[in-house]
Amino acid sequence: AKSLGKSRYSFFSSDMMDNYQRRIEIANNIETALSENEFSIYYQEKVDANGRRVGAEALARWNSKKLGFVSPAEFIPIAEQSGKVTEITRWVIERVCRDCSDVFSRIDPPFHVSINLSAHDLKKYHLIGFIKGTFLKYHIPRGLIEFEVTEHSYLDNLVVANRFFDEITALGCRVALDDFGTGYSSLSYLTKIPIDLIKIDKQFVDNIGESARDDALVITIIEMARRLGMELCAEGVETMEQRQFLTEHGCHMFQGYLFHKPMSLREYQNLLARPAEE
Ligand code: C2E
Ligand code: CA
Ligand code: CA
Ligand code: CA
Repeated sequence: AKSLGKSRYSFFSSDMMDNYQRRIEIANNIETALSENEFSIYYQEKVDANGRRVGAEALARWNSKKLGFVSPAEFIPIAEQSGKVTEITRWVIERVCRDCSDVFSRIDPPFHVSINLSAHDLKKYHLIGFIKGTFLKYHIPRGLIEFEVTEHSYLDNLVVANRFFDEITALGCRVALDDFGTGYSSLSYLTKIPIDLIKIDKQFVDNIGESARDDALVITIIEMARRLGMELCAEGVETMEQRQFLTEHGCHMFQGYLFHKPMSLREYQNLLARPAEE
């Protein structure tokens, strides 16, 4: 192993060093960021086939004094690895519930706001108590909050994950399966956790129109959801062609830049004040 030492050095480039240092810095700055309110929530609207709003997804944003703007695609995995993600989740839940009591609870059902959960959150039983307490504090009506989980969230411990799902389902929250079709998916899990809604991953939506097989895959996912009695939402819809294809094949809920980008609560309030497009 010693003789490999030298060549190993050449692999450890300065880019990797920078990357490593940045990861450490991100991990070390999360707590301060939470206490100093550097995080915020952006909302991205979900619409139905007629362009009517059906809900919004809460997406975390971090504008760090020290590191500048950091994307959740970067800081969430680092927070997961450093054991800090549930702190972020708690902050997100608190903020979204506050926004709900200020703004969203006045919108008619079935409007809902979805919150992303990390795999690690499902193992934190205290999070359930926190959710219950926060719902009470902000008078959250049943059905207003939905939770999104990715497929690999529950793979390692189905029993623990299901205990979590049972509790949030009892609170009236629906469960959405995020990024469907990516990662370590196993179709058999679809019947083993209480999923209400499937989100077709953006990569499938991107591939619509690329080949007959790509199209067939999307059609199959839509058909599968229908047969399983699950609702379906397509993510990352950017073109009219994608929207049309999805609609034609029975997917009636969309999220994507074609409709709306994620926006601050203020911007979203302005949007809510305008009548939805028909
Ligand atoms: P996600 O849950 O799959 O969220 C969708 C991502 O796609 C968002 O990126 C959204 O801004 C982006 N997006 C939506 N429509 C389009 C489109 O038409 N085109 C393109 N190119 N992108 C689109 P964002 O906000 O950067 O979040 C990235 C990921 O970070 C999320 O993926 C989610 O996995 C994670 N994340 C974000 N906020 C939270 C959070 O509060 N908690 C947890 N655990 N994860 C979060
Ligand atoms: Ca999501
Ligand atoms: Ca997703
Ligand atoms: Ca994707």
